[in-house]
Amino acid sequence: MIMFSKDMVRLGNQRSVIRELFEYGNQRAKVVGKENVFDFSLGNPSVPAPDWVGETLQELVQTQSPIALHSYTSAQGSLEARQAIADDLNQRFGTEYTAEHLYLTAGAAAALSACFKALTQNPKDEFVAIAPYFPEYECFVKEGAGAEFRVVAAETTNFQIDFEALQQCLTPWTKAVIVNSPNNPSGAVYTEETAVKLSRLLKQKSEEYGHPIFLISDEPYREIVYDVQTPFLPNFYQDTLVCYSWSKSLSLPGERIGYVLVPPSLTQAKEAYAAICGAGRTLGYVNAPSLFQKIVAQAGGKPAQVEVYRKNRDLLCEGLKKAGYQFSVPGGAFYLFPSIPGGDGEEFSRRAMKYDLLVVPGEGFGCPGHIRISYCVAEDTIRRALPIFEQLMQEYRNEGI
Ligand code: PLP
Repeated sequence: MIMFSKDMVRLGNQRSVIRELFEYGNQRAKVVGKENVFDFSLGNPSVPAPDWVGETLQELVQTQSPIALHSYTSAQGSLEARQAIADDLNQRFGTEYTAEHLYLTAGAAAALSACFKALTQNPKDEFVAIAPYFPEYECFVKEGAGAEFRVVAAETTNFQIDFEALQQCLTPWTKAVIVNSPNNPSGAVYTEETAVKLSRLLKQKSEEYGHPIFLISDEPYREIVYDVQTPFLPNFYQDTLVCYSWSKSLSLPGERIGYVLVPPSLTQAKEAYAAICGAGRTLGYVNAPSLFQKIVAQAGGKPAQVEVYRKNRDLLCEGLKKAGYQFSVPGGAFYLFPSIPGGDGEEFSRRAMKYDLLVVPGEGFGCPGHIRISYCVAEDTIRRALPIFEQLMQEYRNEGI
């Protein structure tokens, strides 16, 4: 007889497809050499954290006492860090936030989990994700918050939103809709038109049901954009909670630093903020890493380094287009999400493994028939992988697919 939560044992034993591929890649690297494994599986930034991060760390260590550096801060994060983040948001988005509207977390994952937990009142409450979506949402919602998880089918032309499908998915039990732009895995960035339509639909449905449907905007890639801007959703829809992290924009995924923004425009904003604090307490998330609170307090006004990713994107898009792949050119993040001949992403991923090419099937993101290529890799890896992508396409052609 198992003495532990069956769900937790299951989740702990079940490695994500992405992790599975990553581990496989490590094994193969021992056999064929690291340079001969073309690993496009993980979303680990390939650009190092900017120099100012290391320099500031050194300065902090040299000028501040260990007590000052490593002590607990307030549960929701230090006042100084939260105020600095609010000031930066205000400068960029014309808002009027203060420290009171921010709750610092260990990355976007903790921010999301805190939101799901804070909003769930009843096990029948529903959180709606739009495919393709970050697979961890499902376990955060179902197992973490004990709520229902619903998925809206993807709009596969440009990966904006199929509003017809979204409308059909909303019910009186809908607590929140989760959006992620720039998107993992499609790289799509929502247009202003999408933001306006989304806001209109959620307002209409909130009125119809007599309670707000919240919007949870998961935006760790907000600054990783190429020639487009990410619409700042609280400026479009008042009931938006923002989950952010510096994992991608500053290449600090291992340092676990992010936040939940509870804008003052939110319905019952004070109670909402209290609920986020309560969720953080319940989940044991209090006090995001102290040292990195001090770092991100200084991030305002410093641009993300997107040029390397842009170059990779252009190289990959050009090569794959020539080889006959079909995809929507990503406006942001560092993922490309082509459709696959034969419509079976898992099969394509398996075939690619024969050549030590690792790509993630779209099935896990709720969007079959596609693969995710994470192009946060060395440029040379892309150059040397392109002939393999071509060869795979040729294989399918030879089979008449
Ligand atoms: N949301 C999306 C869409 C992501 O891609 C990721 C990480 O890859 C996360 C959330 C989690 O971010 P963090 O590492 O900051 O917790």
